[in-house]
Amino acid sequence: MPEKIDIRGVKFDSVSLDTAVDTLVSAAENGNQTAVFTPNSEIVQQCIEHNELYEIINSAELVVPDGVGVIKAGRILGTPFEHGKVAGIEVGEQLIARLADTDHTVYLLGGKPGIAEQAAEKLSEKYPGIKFAGCHDGYFNKTGEENDAVIEAVNQSGAEILFVCLGAPAQEKWIYENRSRLPGIKVMLGLGGSLDGYSGNVKRAPKIFINLGLEWFYRLLKEPKRIGRMMKLPKFYFGTRQYKRRSKKSSGK
Ligand code: UDP
Repeated sequence: MPEKIDIRGVKFDSVSLDTAVDTLVSAAENGNQTAVFTPNSEIVQQCIEHNELYEIINSAELVVPDGVGVIKAGRILGTPFEHGKVAGIEVGEQLIARLADTDHTVYLLGGKPGIAEQAAEKLSEKYPGIKFAGCHDGYFNKTGEENDAVIEAVNQSGAEILFVCLGAPAQEKWIYENRSRLPGIKVMLGLGGSLDGYSGNVKRAPKIFINLGLEWFYRLLKEPKRIGRMMKLPKFYFGTRQYKRRSKKSSGK
C-alpha cells in the first residue's frame, strides 16, 4: 500500500476504486480483519473541531477520500491524490459484485427499518449469487443491551463482511468500539447512506453532477436540510488554504 496522504491530520490512502476493492477481497480471503472508512471533507472538518475523532477515523486499515473537497485539499497541500475521489457507495457495490461468485456472506446494518432488506433484495437482483447473512436497521441504542443484541445477531449470522451504514461519524465510532467483539467479520465498511442508495430510496446525482464535482450540490438541492452540515465545506476549504499559507511561512518557503 502506498504511503498515506495526510489531510489536516486524517491519513488517507491514495488508491483507485479497483485497488480499494482488491484490498477488501484479499482481506476477506486471508482473514485479516480490515475496516474501511470513506471520509469526506465534512468529517475531516469535524476531526479538526473535535480532536478525539482523529483516533477513530485513523484507526481503519483503509481510508479513502469520498469527496471532491478532500481531493482539492490534497492539491492545495501539495500532496495530490493520484486517483481522485473514491465513493464509498461504489466501493460497497463493487465489493458485492466481486463477492457474488464466492461463499463470503454479507450482513447489512443501518438505515430506517426495512431499508437494509430492500437493499439486499435489489443487490441480489443485480448481482445474483451474492449471499446475505442478515439485515438490521440502524435505529438501536449504540450502547448497552440493545447494542449487545445487534452484535450477537451479527456474530450468529456467520457473516464475514459487514456494511455499517449509520451516518458519519456514528458508524466509524461504532466500528472502532465494537470491532474486537466481531471476530468473524473480516471486512467492515462504514458507508453512510449507501443502503438508501442500493434500495432505490435515494437516487445518486446524475453523472454530469458527479463529473463536475458537484454531487454535494445535487444532494443539497434534494435535501435542503443538509445546509447546516454543508457549511463545514467552505470552512474546510478556506481553513486548508490558510493552513497551507501558515505552514509555508513557518517553513520559510
Ligand atoms: N442512520 C441510522 N441510524 C441512526 C442514524 C442514521 O441507521 O441512528 C442512517 C440513516 O437512515 C441513513 C444513514 O444512516 O441511511 C445516514 O445517511 P447520510 O446520507 O446522512 O450519511 P452521511 O452523509 O452521514 O455519510
